[in-house]
Formats: sequence, structure tokens, C-alpha cells
Amino acid sequence: MERLQKVLAHAGVASRRQSEQLIASGHVKVNGQVVTELGVKVGLHDEIAVDNIPIAAEEPIYILLNKPRGVVSTANDEKGRKTVLDCIEGVSQRIYPVGRLDYDTSGLLLLTNDGQLANELTHPKYGVEKDYVAKVEGIPSNDDMKALRQGVVVEGKQTAPAKAKLRSSDKEKKTAIVSLTLHEGRNHQVKNMLAAVGHPVVKLTREKYAFLTLAGVQSGDFRRLNPKEVQELK
Ligand code: URA
Repeated sequence: MERLQKVLAHAGVASRRQSEQLIASGHVKVNGQVVTELGVKVGLHDEIAVDNIPIAAEEPIYILLNKPRGVVSTANDEKGRKTVLDCIEGVSQRIYPVGRLDYDTSGLLLLTNDGQLANELTHPKYGVEKDYVAKVEGIPSNDDMKALRQGVVVEGKQTAPAKAKLRSSDKEKKTAIVSLTLHEGRNHQVKNMLAAVGHPVVKLTREKYAFLTLAGVQSGDFRRLNPKEVQELK
């Protein structure tokens, strides 16, 4: 969902400021109703008209990016670092990421201009399944793995039951590879969960989001979802 004045400005109707004036002075209708309030949010499926002339709806687009490390998940970065939008070429729509991956986390990130779907996918109520693979310091014990599965206290709150598997370990280097499947999406959740059991994350990748995987998409590359995949996500 986007603010109405932003959608108007982006559709080329007028500047952001002029669009606010158009709204405040009663020129804009959303789904047939005049809206004079600023800040009303609209989605791809809302019909917007200025002086009864509908504005062209932007074509919805759904992108799967294999985010590399060293890229921020926000549209703009105040430090001028590379953003996930810099990884996407040939797309004219104004897209944004569905949730976030940390700067130093790689892997599967969806981007879209469909605010409704983005909101649903990130809403805790839907609990989309996400698979992560982490390289950690030390070798987690059976008790550590059990704790990760049952839930650990992170920032004063117990995490929900999760799948956790010790994939491999390197006794010499004292590192291990752990996979975690979460339905929650708290900030830095994987890093915080593993730190809570005494095994800080060295490297983190998201390998799966719902039924979508990174198959065929190299680091830094992206592909558009096909209509069947979009349907399945909805
Ligand atoms: N958990 C984290 O700690 N970082 C991410 O980027 C994603 C999940």
C-alpha cells in the first residue's frame, strides 16, 4: 500500500506537493469516492481517478532476487551503500522489498509493487515459512539444537517452535552449519537465536521463502515470478 499523493506523483499526474493539493481540494476519487484526507493508503487494486479520469494502473510485478552480501534491503541508504534496487535492471515499476535481509545476509528476497501481497506475506498472522542456513562459531550440542527447536528467549520474548538441523560440523575449525526453518520474522532473528545458544553466526543465507527457492538464480541475479507462482503465493 502506498500513500495516495505518492501514487499520483509516480503516475506522472503532478508533483507530490501538487498531488496533495489536488487531493485536498477534492479532485481525486478512490473507488468512486472523493478523498480529501492526505495520507490515505491505496493498493494496486484501488481505482484512482483525477477529475473523473482514471489514472493508468501500474502493472504488478514480482521479482525473486538472490541478494548478495554487502547490499542493503532498503530502497535508499543514507550511507550511500548499494541497495537491492541497484541489483534490478529493466524494471520500470516502483518496487520495494518484501521484508528484509541484513546487509551481511545473502539469499532469497522478493520485491514487488503489490503492496497488498507484500503486507500479507510479512504479516505474522500468515507466518510464511523461511529456510535459513547459517555457519556458526563452535559446534552446537544436542541440547542447543533442542533449545532452538523449542524456542529461545530473544529480547525478552520466547521464539516460536522452529525446525533446526545440524547439517555438518568442522571439529578443527570449530564451526558448524545449521539450518533453521522459521515462521516468524523478527529482526535479526536467526542471528539472535543462534547467539542465544552460544553460537554466533559467521555467515547467513536465506535459501527458501514459502515454496520459492534460489534454484537457477546466481548470487546478484534475479528473475520474475511466473503467474502460477504469484497465484500460489496469494
Ligand atoms: N535473521 C537474521 O538474523 N538476519 C536476516 O537477515 C534474516 C533473518
